[in-house]
Amino acid sequence: MSNVQVDIPTVNRQWQINGNPRGRALTESDFLQVETPTRPLSRGEVRVRVLYLSFDPSQKGQMENVSGYASGNNIGDVMMAGGIGEVVESQDEAIVVGAKVSARLGWQEFAVLPASAVTVVPDDAYLTARLGPLGGTGLTAYFGLYRVGKPEPGDTVVISGAAGAVGSIAGQLAKLMGCRTVGIAGGAQKCAWLVDELGFDAAIDYKNENVKSRLRALCPDGINVFFDNVGGPILNDALACIATHARVVICGGISRYEQTSLPPGPPNYFNIVFRQATIEGFLLTAYEPEFKLAQERLMAWIATGQIRYQEDIQSGFERIPATLMRLFTGANMGKQLLKL
Ligand code: NAP
Repeated sequence: MSNVQVDIPTVNRQWQINGNPRGRALTESDFLQVETPTRPLSRGEVRVRVLYLSFDPSQKGQMENVSGYASGNNIGDVMMAGGIGEVVESQDEAIVVGAKVSARLGWQEFAVLPASAVTVVPDDAYLTARLGPLGGTGLTAYFGLYRVGKPEPGDTVVISGAAGAVGSIAGQLAKLMGCRTVGIAGGAQKCAWLVDELGFDAAIDYKNENVKSRLRALCPDGINVFFDNVGGPILNDALACIATHARVVICGGISRYEQTSLPPGPPNYFNIVFRQATIEGFLLTAYEPEFKLAQERLMAWIATGQIRYQEDIQSGFERIPATLMRLFTGANMGKQLLKL
């Protein structure tokens, strides 16, 4: 246990929630920058300097708290987010000053947490990957594809939001299973990255191409697994092209996250009946007991270069709110992070 205080300022800069963005886009005014006095640690607590923050579209959903899907975040609370930090002060026997940890650190410069709420991680080349392909992003792709999508070798797997953090890993996992993989993403640059760098068999630029006719051309025998991150018109086009006994995996629906009213159901939904298909949503948290094994597998594939990943690392405390907004304009390529 160490109570050495190195470089700990008397005030902690934080971003608090200042608005409820339900049914609309996020704005800078949804967040308020404040300074709060740092307090002494109690026994069993650690103080962590935040080094990296992780961004995920669901953080907007946390602020809305629709359907009780995430625990509520109230106005005045520090905006919550996962991150990687360094322990700068410890009142716990097991955690030493200088250790790198992964935890729900929040949008602030320093977090005070019970030691039980932090996980010590190796300070190696994969430090930030523990927020992406080795963290929630990779695990979401792994369980969503393998456990819900159940791809088989030779299947045609189509992924929307394919150049994002989850989609880019899901597509590579499908390739590892021996599937033909088609990604849907916004813009020629993202599509070229999917095919040239990540090994997707084809990509559709939904901002400049007709998705349905491209799907029909690229998947002449139909889509066996559709892994959906976006919903809306892309989901509807994919439903029109599913094969018999297709599995439609609803991972996310970012196209509706900023809409003022709930969208109508996809007009092509009845093809689920004609094709005897299944459509199933999932939450990553359901698979928590199996995280360790999945992380070991993901680590092995990353270490051998069978899975590649890209990080989009913004920097600076002031840019935290704007960095979350990048996800909703498609400005990010790969996993969105910020370095403090
Ligand atoms: P991400 O894909 O890295 O970033 C979001 C991407 O969504 C953007 O880069 C953008 O790419 C695309 N996008 C934004 N607005 C869009 C629109 N209107 N229509 C189509 N595409 C749009 O984010 P992520 O962290 O990997 O998350 C992907 C999805 O997984 C999210 O929906 C998230 O909520 C979901 N998720 C689910 C679980 C679960 O347990 N079910 C867990 C984690 C994440 P383009 O440039 O291609 O448009």
